[in-house]
Amino acid sequence: MPGSVIARKAENVSEIPARVLVAGGGGFIGGHLVADLLRQGHSVRSVDVKPMHEWHQVHPAAENIVADLALSESAHKASDSVDRVFNLAADMGGMGFIENNKAACMLSVLPSTHLLLAARDSGVQQFFYASSACVYAAARQTDPDVVALREDDAYPAQPEDGYGWEKLFSERMCRHFLEDFGLQTRVARFHNVYGPYGSWTGGREKAPAAICRKVAEAALSGRHEIDIWGDGEQTRSFMYVDDCVHGSQLILAGDNADPVNLGRSELVSINQLVEIVEGFAGIHCRRTHDLRAPQGVRGRNSDNTLMQKYYGWEPTISLATGMEQTYRWVYDQLKATA
Ligand code: NAD
Repeated sequence: MPGSVIARKAENVSEIPARVLVAGGGGFIGGHLVADLLRQGHSVRSVDVKPMHEWHQVHPAAENIVADLALSESAHKASDSVDRVFNLAADMGGMGFIENNKAACMLSVLPSTHLLLAARDSGVQQFFYASSACVYAAARQTDPDVVALREDDAYPAQPEDGYGWEKLFSERMCRHFLEDFGLQTRVARFHNVYGPYGSWTGGREKAPAAICRKVAEAALSGRHEIDIWGDGEQTRSFMYVDDCVHGSQLILAGDNADPVNLGRSELVSINQLVEIVEGFAGIHCRRTHDLRAPQGVRGRNSDNTLMQKYYGWEPTISLATGMEQTYRWVYDQLKATA
């Protein structure tokens, strides 16, 4: 069974088997989450709008359903008889996708809305919403030498156009479903998640997978050249998917109801990320910089003070360890298609 590559010790967040819906289970993070929930003995229903042959991972031990959760009826069916919901369903991708598909990104408000209503109506006990660091105000992210973003930096609101507005709006819905209907909602703001079994080509891939693919292409072809979006001095932090899966479950199980950052605080520039991956390939590429390509904000990092305070934990898997796993996986995918 495919699943997470860096084995985490049996750190079960919850001992009692539950019936869990993973909305967006055919996606990158969803596929890893389903694997981890099954490993813990939970009963999992995984729902995604994509045809099943496009799911990043299909786990036969889960109940796998193709359905559009933007529709009220599908959301209600999916939420029937479940204790917990992880809502990861969103139409999204890397900067190249979200800068050019703002309406599509905002339409993810439909699965967000119908899943909240269905969870309320079906008596779901716990509801997790995957928000994003894209909710943060752009004005706080203009310098590569960043001050890490704290949760209250999301207001006054100036999120990423399209995608970030939908995330911020859905966060607020979670808050008000808790206040008005007593649905136990929890919200994590994911910061750049990467790892194997995700998009690595086709336009939705994010920087870590795209860089792995470009370096792997250079290694396989012998043409040691790479194009980088922007000057490469923009900075980010990147969280390995196993940490994301673990942190999401901690947040759902915990008492804190306010949105909390879930990200790693190891800041790196895109140029440094390329160097790290070149190291795995044992090559050095000549660089060209596409200054007109989408780049997003200039710098972004995760302040993990609240994560530490509420959960006594923060993402631990280093960029060197996680990127090596990701590079090996992307290399194998590329080689298999060559
Ligand atoms: P992904 O695109 O791989 O997975 C999302 C899945 O949701 C897709 O498989 C998609 O088909 C599905 N989906 C979309 N609309 C749907 C609908 N109407 N009904 C059913 N399924 C639907 O993305 P991911 O990287 O796994 O991200 C999961 C969640 O985490 C998303 O909400 C995303 O916005 C959030 N997030 C991800 C990152 C990251 O770096 N990957 C960062 C911040 C936030």
